[in-house]
Amino acid sequence: MNEVKHLYVHVPFCRSICYYCDFCHRIYDHELAQKWLERFKKEIENSLVPGYETIYIGGGTPTALEYDELKTLLDYLKPYSQQAFEYTIEANPESLDEDKIILMKEYGINRISLGVQSTDTGILRSINRKHDFALIKEKIALLRKHGLDNISVDLMYSLPNQTLETLQKTLDDILSLDVPHISIYSLTIEENSVFGRKGISALDEEIEADMYELIEKCLTQNGYRHYEISNFCKEDCYSRHNMSYWNYEDFIGVSLAASSKIGSRRYTNTRSFERYFSSDDIHEEDIVLNKKEQMFEHIMMSLRTDLGLDIDGFERRYECKIEEEYPQGTGNPHIVIENGRMYCKDLAILNTVLLDFME
Ligand code: SF4
Repeated sequence: MNEVKHLYVHVPFCRSICYYCDFCHRIYDHELAQKWLERFKKEIENSLVPGYETIYIGGGTPTALEYDELKTLLDYLKPYSQQAFEYTIEANPESLDEDKIILMKEYGINRISLGVQSTDTGILRSINRKHDFALIKEKIALLRKHGLDNISVDLMYSLPNQTLETLQKTLDDILSLDVPHISIYSLTIEENSVFGRKGISALDEEIEADMYELIEKCLTQNGYRHYEISNFCKEDCYSRHNMSYWNYEDFIGVSLAASSKIGSRRYTNTRSFERYFSSDDIHEEDIVLNKKEQMFEHIMMSLRTDLGLDIDGFERRYECKIEEEYPQGTGNPHIVIENGRMYCKDLAILNTVLLDFME
């Protein structure tokens, strides 16, 4: 029986590189993709067992693969996806076409996470994104035509040259599409991204905070539930896969740079294509957390959501009383304990609140 219920698959290719991104990826290359698929097959045969409830294919850009390669990937994953009730794939508007959508549907994919970031063409070009809002609308209509309507849109804020007005316009555009799920992340300048190398700096913290406030107000007023720091959904269309991370369940990640959490053990696969292709030993940062570290990690992840932490489950798992173990944390004025759950009233300041749970 498979004890781990959640599987993440990393596709390490993109058709072009966004200036803010330092994820593990290479520009798509047919030969490299073939070699990766071959090695990937070997990896999953050695590390996976059937029975995952959620599968998330991310990257990189899974749709950067050609049709036949995507088909091969989904074939390889077929033995593991039979029981998956949520099967998500990330897609970019430029590389998603009708044939790939039909293929995804055939293989049981039932949720799409579409990389949009903004609907402002000037901003999109300034971060090296090739699409525009018209293409996004077209691809969403195509997904719906084939019954794939569980769609999540990824957006960004605090981008260079973005203002509260252009952000509001993007939100209005996205609201007009009536998608059930929206993720929205602030720009972080990563050292190894094009922005990092060019010395571009992030927007002022105050503007970033104003943008977050605008996003929250606009989306909640329009019927979205703010269920996690960066995630909003209609009704119960939250991401089951990501919820498993926040509920501190175990998960396994395969392919380059993918992380796994199995009990107290954490490991991340190598980011190096060379090592991935040439060695059977692909785990890096393979560590075992002690009980105290797991308890803090569990609290940190759970408080990210509006449902917070299940206190009874936590106390049974770690054989402790949470209020005795964390008097300062549970006493923080932003922490609420009611109906067997503990949550943070103001997700925007969670990091500060968490300091009170640290030793
Ligand atoms: S943001 Fe997505 S599409 Fe852009 S470079 Fe990063 S992984 Fe590729």
